[in-house]
Amino acid sequence: MILDGKQVAAERLEILKAEIRSSGLSPQLATVLVGDDPASRLYVKLKHEACGKVGIGSVGNTLPADATTRDVVRAVQELNRDTGIDGILVQLPLPPRVEAHRVLEAVDQTKDVDGFHPCNLGRLLSGSPLFVPATPLGVMNLLNHYRIPPAGRNTVVVGRSVEVGKPLAALFTTADATVTLCHSKTRDLPAITRKAEILVTAMGRPMTITAPMVRKGAVVVDVGTSYVNGRLCGDVDFAAVSAVASAVTPVPGGVGPMTIVSLLENTLQAARMRRCPPA
Ligand code: NAP
Repeated sequence: MILDGKQVAAERLEILKAEIRSSGLSPQLATVLVGDDPASRLYVKLKHEACGKVGIGSVGNTLPADATTRDVVRAVQELNRDTGIDGILVQLPLPPRVEAHRVLEAVDQTKDVDGFHPCNLGRLLSGSPLFVPATPLGVMNLLNHYRIPPAGRNTVVVGRSVEVGKPLAALFTTADATVTLCHSKTRDLPAITRKAEILVTAMGRPMTITAPMVRKGAVVVDVGTSYVNGRLCGDVDFAAVSAVASAVTPVPGGVGPMTIVSLLENTLQAARMRRCPPA
């Protein structure tokens, strides 16, 4: 079975569009892009286009590549003060000279639709998240759509970034999976991945997960995206692994579209929280 993120995301976008229409709200997302990295520019453009499709307003803030940490923090603070903005997304990675942790800590927690503020990450760990980072949330929603419950399953996450691997491990733990988190220092990775009933890879190492590394009947979710000879590739050797796994995500068309829709869902949630606070 192919876990068709493109199709599931399209369905969720339609539902979201209807929810926004009936809410009477006009959610607004602001993006912050520093520099002119082509991949980052493309990701921001896709997010703005997706906003337009569902009725979310979006404004882009682009700072020059030589912007300092202080410049970026100031731009974020201005968006915090702007009562017309519901969600703020700082496009990562930031240039090396900008201290990403200071920028992410500057984002108002109630507008932190990417969920990377340390308080929001802490809430995630405590099991009562406010905003869940978009990619991990997209993975969980995709599994849920295909009725693949993680409870009790041996689940291996390869990659321990703050943006993907760590929050995913927290979400799987909350969902009662038995979780192993692997990284570049993991010894004998194939021995561990072969035990996975659910295997999620977020390394950014194209075609690293081969068929002998996958248990028969496993569910394989490929978060990785790398360009090889101008073609987008995942971490998984899709053709070979499809013959062993029971379900697998393609790249492109798997986790990527789910990430974008999760960001938009978080933006509606932020607008609801800010504009319709509970009585
Ligand atoms: P990252 O910060 O570079 O983290 C990569 C992780 O992979 C690190 O924890 C690293 O280990 C681990 N790793 C690298 N090589 C490994 C190996 N040979 N064996 C085991 N572990 C290895 O990347 P990220 O931000 O998490 O992103 C990961 C991938 O997902 C990238 O390709 C990115 O483009 C993609 N991504 C896709 C989406 C989407 O929407 N589809 C969203 C976000 C990210 P160490 O910690 O030991 O260095």
